[in-house]
Amino acid sequence: MRTKNIELVLSPPEPHFVGDGFRVHNFIPGGYRADMVRMNPFILLDYGAKHYFPPTDQVRGVGVHPHRGFETVTIAYKGSVAHHDSTGEHGVIGPGDVQWMTAASGILHKEYHEKEFSRAGGEMQMVQLWVNLPARDKMSAPKYQSLTNDQIQKVLLEGNGGIVEVIAGSYRDVVGSATTFSPVNLLNVRLNMASGADFSFPSDFNTALLVVEGQVTVNKTEEVLTNHFALFQNDGEAFTIETTDGAIVLVMSGEDLKEPIVAHGPFVMNTRQEIVQAFEDFQKGKFGYLAD
Ligand code: MN
Repeated sequence: MRTKNIELVLSPPEPHFVGDGFRVHNFIPGGYRADMVRMNPFILLDYGAKHYFPPTDQVRGVGVHPHRGFETVTIAYKGSVAHHDSTGEHGVIGPGDVQWMTAASGILHKEYHEKEFSRAGGEMQMVQLWVNLPARDKMSAPKYQSLTNDQIQKVLLEGNGGIVEVIAGSYRDVVGSATTFSPVNLLNVRLNMASGADFSFPSDFNTALLVVEGQVTVNKTEEVLTNHFALFQNDGEAFTIETTDGAIVLVMSGEDLKEPIVAHGPFVMNTRQEIVQAFEDFQKGKFGYLAD
């Protein structure tokens, strides 16, 4: 196996607010070279680094909005995120839990801080990743997978090295919990002190990692600090990560869909005509109904 080398490491861009609840650093598609075509099927990565929200009785978050053509994956590290959508699904996730929403042909949803968390105040830390759908699945029925931490398959690393949570795809023959429409590996890697893990994905899979806690050394040479994002070249299969003081790292690797991308706001399709259609369908109420 050849080594998969790092192409670039991005420090966190200036944060911005999504609604009034999610203070995020956008790595995809805003990051240098980490655009939708380069990173496909990962078409958006918003990282909410740790941020303290004071207590409030207001609802903090993002109001009702549509999506079509992809999936939204929300991972909570700290705090508690709630979700409601127009198919009637509702969920609350806390630290270690994942919401995997397939917008596909169209959905309305709202995302916000869970009520009790808002009332008490506290630190929020989360990831939202958009996973593109293949053209053949973009107009399939919406669905929702709620994955609490106990439902996520795990691999224990030898020597008390830590845990790899297999959110989707596989790690060492352990198959992940979420179903996907194309080959996607999404691993939450929790490393203990003085430990490491190795990974292998096909060389042509687009691959990146986000350091959520601590810092790591990749391939024994490249330091990647807290809240930094590393994009890998497509030059090999295997890489290693190691840590001295412990770390949490989100690893993503997916097969390039190699289909055209036309994106406009909350719609990501293959052609401009499909985007026009999405706006028309949205205006005609074809995405269903969801109360504010
Ligand atoms: Mn959304």
